[in-house]
Amino acid sequence: MMDIRSYVPPPGLLEGRVVAITGAGDGIGRALALRAASLQAKVILVGRNVRRLEALEAEIAAMPIAGSPHARPEATIAPLDLEKALADDYDRLADALMQRYGRLDGLVHNAAALGALAPIEHADMRNWCRVLHVNLTAAFALTQVLLPALRASPDASVIFTSSSVGRRGRANWGAYAVSKFGVEGLSQVLADELSGNSTVRVNAINPGPTRTRMRRQAYPAENAELVALPEDIVNPYMWLLGPASRGTTGQSLDCQAPAPPAVAKA
Ligand code: NDP
Repeated sequence: MMDIRSYVPPPGLLEGRVVAITGAGDGIGRALALRAASLQAKVILVGRNVRRLEALEAEIAAMPIAGSPHARPEATIAPLDLEKALADDYDRLADALMQRYGRLDGLVHNAAALGALAPIEHADMRNWCRVLHVNLTAAFALTQVLLPALRASPDASVIFTSSSVGRRGRANWGAYAVSKFGVEGLSQVLADELSGNSTVRVNAINPGPTRTRMRRQAYPAENAELVALPEDIVNPYMWLLGPASRGTTGQSLDCQAPAPPAVAKA
């Protein structure tokens, strides 16, 4: 497989594809929505902060498309609070999407909550349940309800957002790390279930250190200037959404080279 970390998407890569992105209002999700729209996807902005999503929708509608002066970028908003959403909310979103588009070609699970970082010994139960729910259970529920729309696509891609602490546990990362292990597991189970009986591919990707609100919350003391900007790490997601990744499923991928191993102190 090619090294997707250096992938450069060609213009029009996602032309006509319907792509839903959770947590689209900020950080990596926002950069994903802008890049996908610039590649001519019809983007569905899923999130809980409607004002932010409206601003992004307007920004996308005003975007020029390189090489296609007549192309009109398209974005729609799907309000959904992953902490509070109930079965009816998921059903309504799926129904509206099917009515408008009749299929879904890409689903990017990007939204997540970091929660409070603490050793397991002192972990707060409410924080644990909230983080597991937003990061893992809500992604399961949304995927399940959107599976008919994904199956209706000739070439659908589901992307789960992982993390380095979802592959190797780290002290104090508690519920967040465990939720990301769960996301990796969900991705693999679903990929296995859908291979051979559908054209839906399912993969997990770790964006790596990226300059966002969540990163600041997790590493308040680091020099943010040294951390990659969201717009600089999103191309591997585009590869997964585009036709070149057809046949790639059940993989755990990375947007950036892994950090060198920590040097043991003497
Ligand atoms: P941000 O905090 O910048 O963005 C997170 C997004 O998730 C926001 O749009 C936020 O919405 C949304 N969100 C949070 N809770 C909910 C909820 N209950 N319902 C709906 N939306 C919600 O984080 P990043 O952009 O950094 O994170 C994006 C993904 O990348 C996450 O899955 C994260 O775990 C992963 N990641 C990030 C890394 C990094 O270094 N930044 C490293 C490894 C993984 P709102 O604006 O309303 O809060």
